[in-house]
Amino acid sequence: MDPFGTYKKVVSARSTLKEVLKKAQDGGIVSTAFIYGLENNLLDGVIVADNAGEFRAIPKVATTPEEVLEAAGTKYTVCPNVSVLKSAVREYGCEKIGVVGTPCQVRAVRKLMKYPIGFRHIPDKISLIIGIFCMENFPYYGLKLIVEEHCGVKMEDVVKLDIGKGKFWVYTKWGETKAVKLKETHPYEQIACHVCTDYTAELADISTGSVGSPDGWSTVFIRTTKGEEIFNKMVEDGYLEVKPIEEVKPGLGLVEKLALTKKEKNLKEIEHRKELGLPVPY
Ligand SMILES: Cc1cc2nc3c(=O)[nH]c(=O)nc-3n(C[C@H](O)[C@H](O)[C@H](O)COP(=O)(O)OP(=O)(O)OC[C@H]3O[C@@H](n4cnc5c(N)ncnc54)[C@H](O)[C@@H]3O)c2cc1C
Ligand code: SF4
Repeated sequence: MDPFGTYKKVVSARSTLKEVLKKAQDGGIVSTAFIYGLENNLLDGVIVADNAGEFRAIPKVATTPEEVLEAAGTKYTVCPNVSVLKSAVREYGCEKIGVVGTPCQVRAVRKLMKYPIGFRHIPDKISLIIGIFCMENFPYYGLKLIVEEHCGVKMEDVVKLDIGKGKFWVYTKWGETKAVKLKETHPYEQIACHVCTDYTAELADISTGSVGSPDGWSTVFIRTTKGEEIFNKMVEDGYLEVKPIEEVKPGLGLVEKLALTKKEKNLKEIEHRKELGLPVPY
């Protein structure tokens, strides 16, 4: 089974922008690419997941680097980024749009580019699709239960959430760190995630996640010519530092293991649901 889909190159990378590194989830690849695109006129609007308070997420069309920074960091809950794509074109007048999304959202964007029913005049305005790795996601009240009931932290006190090393991590504004094993968070996952087989956003121009790289760095798949052009420019202009993936730990092997685990487990669930006669979206 192919774990990653098509790509040209995979590296470990980190932003050189201090303000991004302060707010970003991992190596700040997404925010840096969007800031670079806006500053260099490669993009004129980007769709991000803004923090709507207490880690609720709301899609936003950001047109300035400040707005991109505001929206940095992962919200482990559903954020319908694709829903503001039309608004980016029709209300904001954007002609060169960047979009970030989970693998399912990246697929939705590729589909609407191919079959633009209801999306007339939109596909040619999509200039960059960045995908973020994703194993699972949570409805907001599931997330709140994990944080408040399992970790004993009020949502209002949370400054960062993270998933890694088999645990769900909660960082508080008091400097405390709480964690819960992922087996305890499974019941709160979105049901649709159990039939999703894409871990690394295989249809994006650039895909990125923390897994495979050291803390504070990101694993980055450069998949398309478009993705390669902007990535190379960012490196040449000093916005990113890059290391060969072979030189970092834990390395690509772990990404492969997780991508294959997701595919195998969720393909079984797809078969199971088919046997029950249930509709399977994938
Ligand atoms: C639900 C979920 C599950 C994830 N699971 C994994 C995983 O298993 N392994 C792994 O390596 N990485 C995972 N990630 C990705 C990881 O948490 C980081 O988002 C990614 O590494 C990008 O980090 P960065 O520092 O480059 O991004 P930043 O510069 O911090 O930017 C992140 C961008 O993502 C956008 N964003 C935040 N939350 C969402 C959301 N819910 N939906 C859509 N866009 C959003 C933000 O608006 C921002 O533009 C997951 C992300 C999400 C949202
Ligand atoms: S697991 Fe799949 S369906 Fe669920 S949020 Fe992530 S990409 Fe979307």
